[in-house]
Amino acid sequence: MNYRSLFIYGLTLCFTSVLIAQNDQVINREQMVKTQLEARGIKDPLTLYSMLNVPRHEFVPKNLVEHAYKDGALPIGSGQTISQPYIVAFMTQTLKLKSTDKVLEIGTGSGYQAAVLGKIVDSVFTVEIIKDLALSAKSRLKNLGFDNVIVKWGDGYHGWPEKASFDAIMVTAGAESIPQPLVDQLKNGGHMVIPVGPSDNVTYLVSVFKKKDRIITKNLFPVRFVPFTRKQ
Ligand code: SAH
Repeated sequence: MNYRSLFIYGLTLCFTSVLIAQNDQVINREQMVKTQLEARGIKDPLTLYSMLNVPRHEFVPKNLVEHAYKDGALPIGSGQTISQPYIVAFMTQTLKLKSTDKVLEIGTGSGYQAAVLGKIVDSVFTVEIIKDLALSAKSRLKNLGFDNVIVKWGDGYHGWPEKASFDAIMVTAGAESIPQPLVDQLKNGGHMVIPVGPSDNVTYLVSVFKKKDRIITKNLFPVRFVPFTRKQ
């Protein structure tokens, strides 16, 4: 075998192993949707479609890729975490999204939840308080082609007034109470989902529905989230 054919042979081997690895991730994702989501009652077709198609392994640190589709949260650096797939799906389903919706997320983290929303709706505006995370999520989402997801570095307590109002709002950090600016930026008829609880007690996932400028809240179930922090 001459050098040229050796080179082509090597290239083919490389290409094939990349294809096999990617196919493995598709299988892992199918398994995740079946055993962690459908089996636990996630039914919304848009949520299931999105969870099946967003490559979660691209949003976790390189050394944790083999755990990307497991049934749990994972660290993403700066002391923060990417939520368990079931929680991502449950929160997404709770918003009762439509393809024409404009959505606000507070707590970009890795950008995974924003990408899951982005596959479903028209546009996603997401705010992250830690600069490093905001910058890396921004470039990750751009590289993966999520052009309808816009990331901003800032304190999400204030929402994103310039882009308001929103059809739906999701907060992915545990707050002590529901920030009033977020209530103000939610459209009538819109849904919000937010983990709420005092720092020394149980945090509940809370669904918020806005009707005629008033909100109706409902505690869903206890959850664990990293804390909602404020800029000094
Ligand atoms: N949705 C993320 C996971 C979020 S972890 C994902 O899919 O990966 C919660 C994130 O909320 C953390 O990155 C944390 O820095 C951020 N956060 C906490 N308080 C915030 C605030 N006031 N404004 C914006 N982001 C905040």
